[in-house]
This record gives sequence, C-alpha cells and structure tokens, in this order.
Amino acid sequence: MPPVDESFRDSITTISKEGKRNFLHPKKPKGRYYNYRSLLSYFLIGFLFIAPFLKVNGKQFILINVMERKYNIFGYTFWPQDFYLIVLAVLTGVLFIILFTVAFGRVFCGWFCPQTIFLELIFRKIEYAIEGDRPKQIKLEKMPWNQEKIIKKGSKWLIFYILSFIISNVFLAYFIGSDALIQHLKDGPSEHLVTFIKLLFFAAVFFFVFSWFREQVCIIVCPYGRLQSVLLDNKTIIVAYDYKRGEGRAKMRKGQDREAENLGDCIDCKQCVQVCPTGIDIRNGTQLECVNCTACMDACDAVMDKVGFEKGLIRYASEDAIAKGEKFKLTGRMKFYATILTVLMSVLGYLLLTQKEITLRVNNTRGALYQTVNDSIINTYNYKIANKTNDEIKDVSFKLLDHKGVIILPGTKTVSFEKATMSNSATMIIKIPASEITKNKEQIKIGAYADGKLLDTRKVIFLGPHHFN
Ligand code: SF4
Ligand code: SF4
Repeated sequence: MPPVDESFRDSITTISKEGKRNFLHPKKPKGRYYNYRSLLSYFLIGFLFIAPFLKVNGKQFILINVMERKYNIFGYTFWPQDFYLIVLAVLTGVLFIILFTVAFGRVFCGWFCPQTIFLELIFRKIEYAIEGDRPKQIKLEKMPWNQEKIIKKGSKWLIFYILSFIISNVFLAYFIGSDALIQHLKDGPSEHLVTFIKLLFFAAVFFFVFSWFREQVCIIVCPYGRLQSVLLDNKTIIVAYDYKRGEGRAKMRKGQDREAENLGDCIDCKQCVQVCPTGIDIRNGTQLECVNCTACMDACDAVMDKVGFEKGLIRYASEDAIAKGEKFKLTGRMKFYATILTVLMSVLGYLLLTQKEITLRVNNTRGALYQTVNDSIINTYNYKIANKTNDEIKDVSFKLLDHKGVIILPGTKTVSFEKATMSNSATMIIKIPASEITKNKEQIKIGAYADGKLLDTRKVIFLGPHHFN
C-alpha cells in the first residue's frame, strides 16, 4: 500500500476545518482522455437535446409523459399496461451499470453521467473561458467586489442561468412532448404561467447545482457513489496511482539520479491534485469521492512526458494489477452478473420486438351467464382496442377463428378507433351453434380485422351448459 498520511480519511476536501464549504478551483484538464471525454460529451448532449424533437412514424423518439401516462422509448409506445417492460428495462439498466462497475469501476460517472458531463464539460468550460484557469479563479475569489469581479461573475452567472433555463425546457419536452413545448413557446409565458414558473424554478435548481453545489452531488447526494464500497474489488479497473512505481515520491532536482537515490517516479508536483474536480489526492488510493474523470491521468501523463519518464503512473488499472502485476481477468462475480444480464436483455429484446401496435382485449361481461336460443349458445363480452399507432383504424370487424358462429356488435357491423388511444369498453355478443361446443368452459379465439388484415387475436372463455362437461 502507498505509505501515506492517513488524515485524509477524517475529512472531505469540500468542507473546511471550520465546517464551511471549501469551494474548489480545479486546474483546467488537458490531454487525450479529456479530448475523448469532450467528444463523447458533445455526442451525448446533442442526443439529449435532439431526442425529444425527433419523430419516428410520427411519434416522439423519447417521451416520458407521466401526467397523460404516455411513454415512447426509441419510437416504441408504452402504455401503463406495458409497465412491466419499463420495469424490466430499468432492471436491465441497473444490472448493466452494476456489472460495468464491478469490472470497470466508475466509468459511468466519468464518461456518461449527466452531472459530470454538464458540470465538467459545459459549465466548467464556460467558467474557464470567463474567469481563466485555477490561479486566476483563486485570485478573483479573493478580490473585493470591484468592477472586474462584478462583470466576470455577473456574466458567468447570467450565462449559467440562461443555460439552465434551456436545459429545463429540453427536459420539459421529454415530459409534456416537444409539440406541446413548441406551442407553449409560441403562445408565450402569459398563456402558460404555471408552466413558466415551474421552468424558472427548475432552471434555478440547475443553476444552484452547477454554479455552487457542484461535486457535492457526487460526494454527498448520489446513491451510486455510495455503492462503490460494495461493488469494487481488487480486480476492478479503476483510475489508480501506481504506488509501486511512484513511491518514494520526491521533488525533482536538476541532474538528479533518482534510481541511485532509491526514489520513485512521482515528483510530488501535485498536478494530479490540482486538477481533481473533487479535490482528492489519488495517491492515497481509491476513494469514494473519485468519479473516475481521468483528469489526474492526463495531468500526470503530461508531467511524465516533461521529465522523460514513461506515461501511466496514474492509469486505468486494478489494485491487483498494480500490487501483483496481474492482467485483467473475468471474476466469478462478473460472469454471474453477465449471465443474468444476457438473460434479461434477451427477454427484454424479445418482448420489445414482439410488441404489437394494436392490441385487442376481450373479457366476459361480469356476472353474465350464457343464454340458449334455438340451437345456439350466446355469451356477452366487453372489448377494448388499444391503438398505439398515429393513424385512425377504420372499419374493424371481428371473427371467430376456430369455431363456427357469429360475433355481433350491437347497432353496428364495424367500428373505428382513433389514433393513439385506448377505446372505451363496448359490448360484443358471440353466438355459437351448440353442436360446436363440447365443454361448459370452452376456450375460443377471436380475431380483429381491418382491410382484410388481422390486427390482433385474443382467447376467451365461452360458457355453456354444465352437461357439456
Ligand atoms: S501528477 Fe504524477 S508526478 Fe505529479 S504528484 Fe501526481 S502522481 Fe506524482
Ligand atoms: S482522482 Fe483523478 S479520476 Fe478521480 S476524480 Fe480526481 S481527477 Fe478525477
């Protein structure tokens, strides 16, 4: 283990000894990982901003309209009765993150989490552009409220708030639909005052998080961060300091022969600490605060380059890789999670691919018994059609698929169903010749047709006299 002062375990860097907030000013990261993360962040932010405005077959690509209970995911429509699919998708997602965490640590936090992406790759970049890098930010912080400070802080907060307001609007498009959002914008705030006030409130929340609360979300609030202690083990790939190679750390002197002096490769420049957005020293080993953002890897690589040592003193590696020089291996736990994940993903994939856009539901009318008329038996049912498509379905008729007999819709021959709605319950009468029925509870199959095309089928129980049993 790295020989370190253990006092870091008794405090967190974001809270001072007096119990006040210690506002961090991390150095601007530079390097290949930061560039990759920036590229990925542009793609993910682009997706977040565009997804609610994309349409597939006239349907919003992603919609989470809780109030009207309409959900579209990748153009698939989910209704409350499909809720089990959402539960399964969430379960699969959670397991995926767990598996990923067991194998690759907090890769999600550093590369995919919206909090990290917005804070480190958008808001922080604006901050660097206006206030400058770490030394200038610290200087500005200590300054009295003079003209320069008012202009810099004022313009930064104004841009932060505008951005927060835009983000709130985008999130609203996910919840009420982009068409409704565009209509709200056309109508103006006075027409939708309540929505407008809500937007201002959520913008204020985002503004608070990204301008002041910041890394505290990861350290104090996020439950995923708290799970790390049970998910990580010695074989998990994390952002790790190679203490075998780095210790004993010591400043670099000109013409020094570090090997002869029995010194390690860490020149104790503290660049890795200054660049860390959660303010920790990764040389103390992995810590709950580390969001695996890779900034310290980039910073240390730049230092290693400068002093002519091999890169990767801080790198993606497991504890065993550093301590024993072991290569990455799949553990039993990883294999177990992967098997469960594969099963869940296959079930989810199957259910999604076999999802129907039009579904027929038929139930025996509650309390109704069968009737015998001449040589036929009659049962009554209630039926509904869920039409998830964006088109009206006209002239729907019903047929018995494996029995002779007729289906009667009182007062009509065919029915039509509006787009994207679940129809009201209506009555259906089924008349089957007694000679066709062999049991007192016979299963029959009904098909719904439109334009000669079978839309959906449903099996129901047809009641008959007891002596049929
Ligand atoms: S950046 Fe690298 S060399 Fe500098 S203190 Fe950190 S680990 Fe040591
Ligand atoms: S220790 Fe390194 S990877 Fe972890 S949060 Fe700090 S800079 Fe990012």
